[in-house]
Amino acid sequence: MAPNNGVASSGSLIVCFGEMLIDFVPTVSGVSLAEAPGFLKAPGGAPANVAIAITRLGGKSSFVGKLGDDEFGHMLAGILKENGVSGDGILFDKGARTALAFVTLKADGEREFMFYRNPSADMLLTPDELNLELIRKAKIFHYGSISLIVEPCRSAHLKAMEVAKDAGALLSYDPNLRLPLWPSEKEAREQIMSIWDKAEVIKVSDNELEFLTGKIDDESAMSLWHNNLKLLLVTLGEQGCKYYTKNFRGCVDGFPVKSVDTTGAGDSFVGALLCKIVDDRSVLEDEEKLKAVLKYANACGAITTTKKGAIPALPTESEVLAFVKGK
Ligand code: ADP
Repeated sequence: MAPNNGVASSGSLIVCFGEMLIDFVPTVSGVSLAEAPGFLKAPGGAPANVAIAITRLGGKSSFVGKLGDDEFGHMLAGILKENGVSGDGILFDKGARTALAFVTLKADGEREFMFYRNPSADMLLTPDELNLELIRKAKIFHYGSISLIVEPCRSAHLKAMEVAKDAGALLSYDPNLRLPLWPSEKEAREQIMSIWDKAEVIKVSDNELEFLTGKIDDESAMSLWHNNLKLLLVTLGEQGCKYYTKNFRGCVDGFPVKSVDTTGAGDSFVGALLCKIVDDRSVLEDEEKLKAVLKYANACGAITTTKKGAIPALPTESEVLAFVKGK
C-alpha cells in the first residue's frame, strides 16, 4: 500500500506536537479492565491522530514528540511513516518506555482508564531536543494539553509554540481533556487556560466547554473568547458543531451514521479543518466558506465513528466526498 492510501501529500506543512501512545482495548466489549480476558493494541494520542488525519486527506504533516526506544516506540514511528507523516521531529528515549493506556467502556457506560506513565518517554521531551528547523517550517502548529502536565515536556511545549509563532505559524489548540492524567481538576483547568490566549484556532467539545466554564451555551463559549482568537469551535458529537468568530457565529449539523466507536472523531474533525485552512486563511473570515469546511470536517468526524479504533477509521478525501454525495 502506498503511504496515505495513494493520495499524494500536498499543501503547506502542519506540525502536530505532543503524545503518541498505545491504547490497549479489551477484546470483548462492556467489561471492566479487571474482567477483560485480553487486550488489543490500538495506536493513539490525539496529536498523532491529527497528523495522520491530515495525510489521509492529502495534506502534509509532521509529528513532534518522544517515544520509547523500544518495540512499541518503533512500531508507532512506523505507523506514522506508513501514513506519510514526516518523522523528522520524532525522538526516542533510551531510559523510558512508550506510554501505554488501558481503556475500557464498561456495560454501565463508564469509561475506565489505567495509564502507564511512570514516567513515559513523551513526558521526558526537553526544550533542547526540539527540531527547531522543522518547527519553523510549520504553516500551522497544532497541540493539546497533555504535554503541559509535567516537566520537562511542558517547557518543550511552550518553547515549540513560541518558535512556531515567531516563524509565522498559525497556532491551533485542542485541549483534549484527560482528567485522570492531571493531579486535580483545578490544576487541569488552570494549565489548560494558561496557554489559552496564544492560539488563533481553538476546538473544544461540549463536555470540555462545560468543564472550563460550568455551562454549555453561546454565552459560556464567548466567555472563552480572546483578542488573538480567529475561530472557536465547539463540537457536539452527532449534532455537529458550533462556530464563533469576531464577526459571525452559527452551527453546522452533523451527519447521522451508525456509530460503533467514537474514538478519534474530534481528531478527524480537526485534521480536516486544518487541511482546509492551511493554504486558505480566508476561510476564517468568510462564513460561507467556513460552513462548507465545517460540513466536510463533520463528515470526517462522522465517518471515523463508523469503524473501530481511531487511526484505521480516518477517511481519505475521496471517501469523504463519496460519503457527502450519498447523503
Ligand atoms: P471529541 O471526539 O473531541 O469528543 P466530538 O465527539 O464532538 O469530539 O466529535 C467531533 C465531531 O465528529 C463532531 O463535531 C461531529 O461532526 C462528528 N461526530 C462525533 N460523533 C458523532 C456521531 N455519533 N455521529 C455523527 N458524527 C459524529
